Amino acid sequence: MNLKKNREHAIVIGASFAGLIATRVLSDHFEKVTLLERDEINDQPETRNGQPQTRHVHGLLPSGLDILCHYFKDLKSTLEAEGAILNDIARSLRWHTSGGYWGQYDSGLTIALVGRPFLEWQIRKRVKSLSNVSIQDKTKVVKLNTTSDQSQVTGVDIEHPGGSNSLSANLVVDTTGRSALTLRWLEELGYKKPSEKKVTVDVNYTSRIFKRNEGQFNEGDAILITPDPPNHLRLGALFPMENNRWIVSLAGWGGDKAPTDDEGFRAFAKSLPSSKLYDVLVNLEPLGDAYTYRFPANLRRMYEELKSYPDGLLTLGDSICSFNPVYGQGMTSASMQAQVLDKELAKGNHVAKVWQPFFKQAGKLINIPWDLATGADFAFSSTEGSKPVGTDMINRYMNHLQRSTHNDKKVLGAFLKVLNLTAAPPSVLKPNILMRVLLNSLRPSKN
Ligand SMILES: Cc1cc2nc3c(=O)[nH]c(=O)nc-3n(C[C@H](O)[C@H](O)[C@H](O)COP(=O)(O)OP(=O)(O)OC[C@H]3O[C@@H](n4cnc5c(N)ncnc54)[C@H](O)[C@@H]3O)c2cc1C
Repeated sequence: MNLKKNREHAIVIGASFAGLIATRVLSDHFEKVTLLERDEINDQPETRNGQPQTRHVHGLLPSGLDILCHYFKDLKSTLEAEGAILNDIARSLRWHTSGGYWGQYDSGLTIALVGRPFLEWQIRKRVKSLSNVSIQDKTKVVKLNTTSDQSQVTGVDIEHPGGSNSLSANLVVDTTGRSALTLRWLEELGYKKPSEKKVTVDVNYTSRIFKRNEGQFNEGDAILITPDPPNHLRLGALFPMENNRWIVSLAGWGGDKAPTDDEGFRAFAKSLPSSKLYDVLVNLEPLGDAYTYRFPANLRRMYEELKSYPDGLLTLGDSICSFNPVYGQGMTSASMQAQVLDKELAKGNHVAKVWQPFFKQAGKLINIPWDLATGADFAFSSTEGSKPVGTDMINRYMNHLQRSTHNDKKVLGAFLKVLNLTAAPPSVLKPNILMRVLLNSLRPSKN
């Protein structure tokens, strides 16, 4: 079999984070890769209509940063040179949870604090410069084409300012986010759609950018205050961005929402369980308007359960699973999925059937952020969805575990592995961690 023959052209739909990293990976395995984006893309950091969430705080977890640096060798040095902060997550991030802040330790894990539009622009520039990649903006994908028996994808139909036409491809990768074109196509082609898991939270984010001057916050680089249900149901984040700016994002659960006006925004920040963020915020000068974003529900599509599916079609990123962004795992999860695809393609098998091992492996790694995000969301009485047995008990334990992170480096280290998607949530129940959490729970918290 001529393997090259089925690796002539790959099409990726949606040039947001998942589409860019997928394109980078595919460029190593296909003669040509075309990335199609509905919006107009300009050569600058920007938020487009198709990805309004990029106006809100985005931290890149250490494992996500590692993957990006593997595929884009000079990314780290550029980010640092351009004013992003890359620092040990446990020293950099002052995270308030369960009544106190994480202890500040050297964890050996580097977080990237940088504006999401800027990070994406840096990645996009690097993807665009690849000799076998072309990015086509203002191009809407309207149809998936298949062989007459609908078993094998052959390409897509597109609409653009110049008209409409068809593109043929050996592999089509759908990275169109939560709206996921694949779902519509499966229905149209007569395939069963993946079953969905949904955990409704109705979280509203309100974010605004401010000027950042020296000395405004010296304890670390960023502040994150997460809810402690049932007493505190609000979130606040103050993260540094490139070009001497802060982004402040405030969020409420169950329909609660921070206002966009100065006074209301500050009052919401003042209601958080720690005054640290508010104390910085009151002296900040805004650089633009505040924007809101509603995140209705954690949503997971169980592609790994499908027995029948069109050959030559894949989907990854938020289109498979999008979780409440409290733990900042979306970009890292998409990067890990792209890495799984890389490994599967490197085996040299026919691309038509890559969906089978890909969805299986991707599903396994998605279990971690899904369990963490939805487990925590079930601690809110307003959350709706099918709650796994034992969740309440685990949440009570997690509350004790979070208290332990205030002054126990080992417990914080165990939690960081889960946060960083490198260990499954049950790993924090191992006897050595469990014992520490139990002993710590008998002592009063230090901060
Ligand atoms: C408020 C908020 C905060 C977040 N914070 C973090 C964080 O701190 N850290 C983190 O890692 N993640 C975070 N995330 C998650 C992160 O934004 C996503 O996981 C990430 O952007 C991956 O999304 P995606 O590329 O799969 O899809 P999207 O970003 O939704 O992009 C889909 C793309 O497809 C395009 N498209 C759609 N239809 C078509 C079509 N027919 N033809 C062509 N193009 C099309 C759209 O225009 C868009 O560009 C956050 C999310 C939210 C909502």
